[in-house]
Amino acid sequence: MITPSSPIEAVLGAGIKPKKRQRIVDGLGLHTVGDLLRHFPRRYLETGRLTRVEELEEGRLLTLVGDVVTSTVNTYNDRRTGRPAYRLDVTVRTDGPRLRMSFFAKSRRTAEWNAGRLAPGTRGIFLGKLGSFRGEWQLTNPQTVLTGSEEESAAQMSLDALGEYYPIYPLTHGVDSWDLQRAVTFALTVLDDVPELLPAEVRERYDVLDARTAYDWIHAPHDLGQVGRAQRRFRFEEALVTQLVLGRRRRELTALGAQARTGDQGSLLKRFDERLPFELTAGQREVGAEVERELGLPHPMHRLLQGEVGSGKTVVALRAMLRVVDSGGQAALLAPTEVLAQQHHRSITAMLGDLAAGGMLGGDPDATTVELLTGSMAKGQRTGPLSRIASGEAGIVIGTHALLEDTVMFADLGLVVVDEQHRFGVEQRAALTDKAGTPPHVLVMTATPIPRTVAMTVFGDLETSTLTELPAGRAPIQTNVVPLADRPQWVDRVWERVREEVTKGHQAYVVCPRIVRDELEQGEHDQLDLDEEGNLVVDRTGTGLASVADVSADLADGPLRGLRIGVLHGRLPAEEKDRTMRAFGAGDLDVLVSTTVIEVGVDVANATAMVLLDAERFGVSQLHQLRGRVGRGGFPGLCLLLTRAEVGSAARDRLDAVAATTDGFELSRVDLEQRREGDVLGKSQSGYRSSLQNLRVLRDEQTILDARSAAADLLDADYELRQVPHLAAAVVELEQSVASEFMEKS
Ligand code: ADP
Ligand code: MG
Repeated sequence: MITPSSPIEAVLGAGIKPKKRQRIVDGLGLHTVGDLLRHFPRRYLETGRLTRVEELEEGRLLTLVGDVVTSTVNTYNDRRTGRPAYRLDVTVRTDGPRLRMSFFAKSRRTAEWNAGRLAPGTRGIFLGKLGSFRGEWQLTNPQTVLTGSEEESAAQMSLDALGEYYPIYPLTHGVDSWDLQRAVTFALTVLDDVPELLPAEVRERYDVLDARTAYDWIHAPHDLGQVGRAQRRFRFEEALVTQLVLGRRRRELTALGAQARTGDQGSLLKRFDERLPFELTAGQREVGAEVERELGLPHPMHRLLQGEVGSGKTVVALRAMLRVVDSGGQAALLAPTEVLAQQHHRSITAMLGDLAAGGMLGGDPDATTVELLTGSMAKGQRTGPLSRIASGEAGIVIGTHALLEDTVMFADLGLVVVDEQHRFGVEQRAALTDKAGTPPHVLVMTATPIPRTVAMTVFGDLETSTLTELPAGRAPIQTNVVPLADRPQWVDRVWERVREEVTKGHQAYVVCPRIVRDELEQGEHDQLDLDEEGNLVVDRTGTGLASVADVSADLADGPLRGLRIGVLHGRLPAEEKDRTMRAFGAGDLDVLVSTTVIEVGVDVANATAMVLLDAERFGVSQLHQLRGRVGRGGFPGLCLLLTRAEVGSAARDRLDAVAATTDGFELSRVDLEQRREGDVLGKSQSGYRSSLQNLRVLRDEQTILDARSAAADLLDADYELRQVPHLAAAVVELEQSVASEFMEKS
């Protein structure tokens, strides 16, 4: 008996040669009949519209079936490049006249590979626009679906034998859609039963198809409506299994418990509020109350604080930290860069004043201590902070990745705040929360959630608070794309604008993708732009990109001569970075040429202009963050995105999207559309791996929400899922695959 767990061999049929079998099994990873059924068509050819060859007409879109009669590779001279180019010319016999088809190729190898596929005797479906060449009808680069050799397919294949919608599968070299379509058809005829993961009540309640019908419809639909219904079924199923894994995890976490931090052992927060030099915005007050409530619960808070760049997230976090200190615990603030950690330390100690003067002789007994810990601090410099952190004397600890090291021990870590969360990996956050005895409360903050975070909020795995209003005194930022491909001369105007801002007494940032020519800034490999298939969209290994070294020298020598120019990048010593930032903050520098080290948190109110060179090299959230460095002091900000990306390219679309809105949440959705969501369950953060096969978080938001409520009901009724064994097996399988990936990585 053939079941979904039978080896795929069982349905491949004798006509398929061993080499091809191996390609199906190893190349496509289809080991079982079930794998084959789960290999869904990428699209469908509407064969109902097969064109009769008598009706030929120039410019018309043709779909036709035919047999290759001749197939020759020709070399010709490309007039545009002056180089030899290659073309495969094929004649195809149809049920009407013969047609000529040309397939152009960049290399002889490609042309010859194509000739191999389209050898005489091959039958296929061809789709393309009809043209004529020297008085003969021809198709140029038609889409082709090969359906096996003439003998192989003659019996099965005629215009009528084709279904109305012919499935086109994701393929590998040497395997054609036809091979898979035949195997699937056979499998669906011989399979008695397919396992049904979804209980009947759930299917009924959420209006999803049963498994058997869904498989039939997705592989051999009569109309596209059936495809849609079948897809919804499989998406729902995937969402449900994912939600069950997440739901079980959440319940386990809640069961672990956390210490409630009610803030009744001190008065720091109260006294801090009294001395705050500004009024909290309504949003800050609301989020503050929400966070306080959750800190007071006996299970861990896990909350995302989204808020526009400059919306005042830090003060919300600081108030939460004080609350925890008032409860006798400690709070840690993790920042992604040394520059930002230093800045937080400066501004938080300044805001706290004598409230942070704990430990001083004769000082306020209720005051606490704020410690800074960064990677560049020497061993000797760390001793004091480390012992005050371990003893619990330090209530607030600010730092970079250095906080994650084993030598850092807390007396009672009650709250972890992760600033600019989009810059951290999941492992890094876990390393810090592991330092607490009982699970700590966690607050993560960002203006531009990364795709995975947006995905987690859609899945409901992260509670979200949002600060929408900006504190008074914020001015708008004007963003323009400067298209150097079409308008190279505009670059002069860019530097004139910078000079004008400086003349008005303001300052400017110039950001480059490189430190020195052709070298990457550290951590940059984490931010590759990848498409759905994991291919590089933007080639970041490209040469000739603007570098801090070149640009600062060129500007000082040319368009910005006479201005005070500083440089900043990740490879400078910590003291030098600190010194440069202080000088820029104090107005002793006019222009700061830097890499993306200034991306997050840097706060210089007098800076009004930002010029981004080779802007297509930066991701959407990076661009948005960088732009947030200007317009902070009540003066209108100007952000110029210089690019050589062509109109219509994905890179250019991204820049246009950034120029069109200053709404960070909207932009994070743009980002998600372009980059996919990463893995909602596991570790991968940068959007190139996903446990999601058929789901797209934005498109399927409603399905994911439906699945969440279905999962909650199932878990309430039957936590072990004993009543639904197939579903339980799928949940365990997913849990294990996530766990094993975790083991591999750690
Ligand atoms: P972000 O949300 O981008 O991290 P910050 O927390 O750095 O923003 O806040 C930006 C600036 O706004 C800081 O200088 C901060 O002191 C100031 N700020 C925060 N809240 C208010 C407020 N309610 N009124 C006025 N200024 C505020
Ligand atoms: Mg901030």
